Amino acid sequence: MTEALRAQVRERAGRRCEYCGYPDLIRSGPFAVEHIQPRSAGGSDDLENTAWSCDHCNGHKAAATQAIDPVTGTMAPLYNPRRDVWKDHFLWSDDTLEIIGKTPTGRATVERLKLNRESTVEARRLLEVWGMHPPQAEIRPIRRR
Ligand SMILES: [Zn+2]
Repeated sequence: MTEALRAQVRERAGRRCEYCGYPDLIRSGPFAVEHIQPRSAGGSDDLENTAWSCDHCNGHKAAATQAIDPVTGTMAPLYNPRRDVWKDHFLWSDDTLEIIGKTPTGRATVERLKLNRESTVEARRLLEVWGMHPPQAEIRPIRRR
């Protein structure tokens, strides 16, 4: 993974975690280039197989590509930032502090990646005061040029 590729993945993500939306400039830990299809399962370093991820989401996802949907109790594919549109699978709670899964994929991802972990929910409360939360409309790259 070259520094240039890492920078490309970061910019494409609008400098936010592509799963929980947390901005990397205010990170509590290092962000990583996450492999959607894990390298251990043959996933490549290709841009199409990568996502910008905070250390929490990256750590909870680990090598998983699917998880149990808590509503149906069946396995569902995890959200894939390269294939799926965030708002198709998730929405913000009315107070915008929690991510709600709308689909089996959304619910399985909220659960597996613990997108509403206490520290992140508390951070969202502060980010909102600073005008940095919720992410604009949906998680999309911010155009800077
Ligand atoms: Zn995250």
